[in-house]
Amino acid sequence: MMKSIRWRVALPYIVLIFSISLWITLYTSAQIRDTYTQQLETHLFVEARQIAENAENLMSPEPNQPALGELVRQQAIILGERITVFDADGNVVAESHKDLTEIGNEFHRAEIQGALATGRGSTIRFSRTYSYDFMYTAVPIRVQSKTVGFARIAVSMQKFDEQYRTYQQNIFIAVSLALITAILLSIWITQSIITPIKNLTGIAERVAKGDLNTHIIITGQDELAQLGRTFNAMAEQLRDKVESLAEERAQITAVLNTMADGVIITDEKGQVLLINPSAARILKTPEDKALNRTFAQLVYHHQLIALWRHCYETGEEQTQAVETHDQSIFVQAVITPLTEGNKQRLLVILQDLTRIRRLETIRRDFISNISHELRTPLASLKVVVETLRDGAIEDPINAQRFLGHIETEVNLLTQMVQELLELSRIESNKAPLNLQATPIEEIITLPVERLSPQAERAKLIINTDIAPNLPEVYADSERMSQVITNLIHNAIKFTPPGGTITIAAERHAKDEIVITIKDTGTGISEQDLPRIFERFYKADQSRTRRGGGTGLGLAIAKHIVQGHGGRIWAESRKGEGSTFYLTLKTSKLDNNSVT
Ligand code: ADP
Repeated sequence: MMKSIRWRVALPYIVLIFSISLWITLYTSAQIRDTYTQQLETHLFVEARQIAENAENLMSPEPNQPALGELVRQQAIILGERITVFDADGNVVAESHKDLTEIGNEFHRAEIQGALATGRGSTIRFSRTYSYDFMYTAVPIRVQSKTVGFARIAVSMQKFDEQYRTYQQNIFIAVSLALITAILLSIWITQSIITPIKNLTGIAERVAKGDLNTHIIITGQDELAQLGRTFNAMAEQLRDKVESLAEERAQITAVLNTMADGVIITDEKGQVLLINPSAARILKTPEDKALNRTFAQLVYHHQLIALWRHCYETGEEQTQAVETHDQSIFVQAVITPLTEGNKQRLLVILQDLTRIRRLETIRRDFISNISHELRTPLASLKVVVETLRDGAIEDPINAQRFLGHIETEVNLLTQMVQELLELSRIESNKAPLNLQATPIEEIITLPVERLSPQAERAKLIINTDIAPNLPEVYADSERMSQVITNLIHNAIKFTPPGGTITIAAERHAKDEIVITIKDTGTGISEQDLPRIFERFYKADQSRTRRGGGTGLGLAIAKHIVQGHGGRIWAESRKGEGSTFYLTLKTSKLDNNSVT
């Protein structure tokens, strides 16, 4: 490319100079030759006429050959030229350089014919005698307007040719020098144009490769400098654009990466162009593997695929709630066509509604449970009150029994209302915990003692197994006792007679104590286990009536334990008993004494 510019600039110069020189050379040499021959011719005519005049008297009546011979020889010496005199028929009558016999009739010669016709004839001709070009000029010799002969002067062109050749050589040298100068000049000019272009190209190449921090150093004020300045401005603008684009992109990426909704963009063929981490999580697929796959391969869900196709075909936004195959995730899918220029794209948004739906289910259950829980004791109360009114009140023994029943139901209702209030207080943080270093026995022993009679009535054995020398825990003793009471109470409720309940405490980690409440009761089914800590959740609605549970106990326990910074969980199998675990932090004071 560089070469081509150099030669594109230099070649016209060289060709121009070369052709001008050539033209000048040819024109001037032709001109010079013409001028010289004309001058020579004129000069020779003058001389020829002089000789013709001198010869006039010697031509008639008969040419006086000795006198004429004398004349031409004398003149030839003076003029340094060859002189010949012919009679009217073209026969030689006098000759300065040759013997007369050597020359034949020359009437036919162009110069003689010219002299006869116009009064002067001239020609250049190769002389066989001298083996060189000669100029022959002839004029008629007239006596009383009658042509009696011809006088001719011949001059060798040798001297002229030599001069002419020298002149040509000089011109050639001059032209060659001019050409060399022109070539050097054009190389210098092209070089001075090409070097900045070369620099510019180098920088442009770097910019093209993505190095936007380069810029051209500008010297001078010419058009190339102007080009350089424009280029620098362009690169700067490009840099600004790239920077702001990168910033925007980073922001969008951050939003996409942190947003809870899944986002997928596909092209019109369904090829996945973008997928965010939430979408990958919802679809349970690694993000990097999702790219370059089709939407159908990615989601593998006929409802979503149909929805995508429908959006593609109608060009209208489509919304549908769908559940994943394993029913673990429930999403609201919104598919919107995106038109970017002439590119058709589809934006798929997957809103994970699993949690919301679960909360919704919990809320629904809560309402239904609370109504159920209220209705049952109220209905029972109503029956008892009606029975009393119908006459049972007259019978003191039965009346006492019924009143006892009323009391039980009212107690249960009161407990439920209290528990509900407590739960709501805990949830809204209105019941601050009074955290203190507390010996673990204080938390466990009291509930055990309180519930022992009840266990005994249910024909159950309660064991405690507290590891010796346990550090104190950091707890609100009253609240924790309430939690343990609740857990033991549950164990009693769900364990048939003859069973055993074991309450144990041991060190779990350096700063953690784990308390376990283990029973040999009915156990909890796999599907109930994750839900038992929800409000009002009861694994078996019918059975719970026995112990009069509210389904709130574990929910309260969870809140209290979490408020202590601990964890609570259960392990159980249907028919194999249950174990409830809860952890508590050891008190900092004690912690220090241990370490
Ligand atoms: P409730 O007042 O009904 O006991 P909880 O919140 O204390 O309410 O318990 C919720 C549910 O968890 C119970 O209804 C029961 O189905 C199950 N559950 C709790 N503890 C046990 C246990 N020790 N053995 C079997 N099931 C249990």
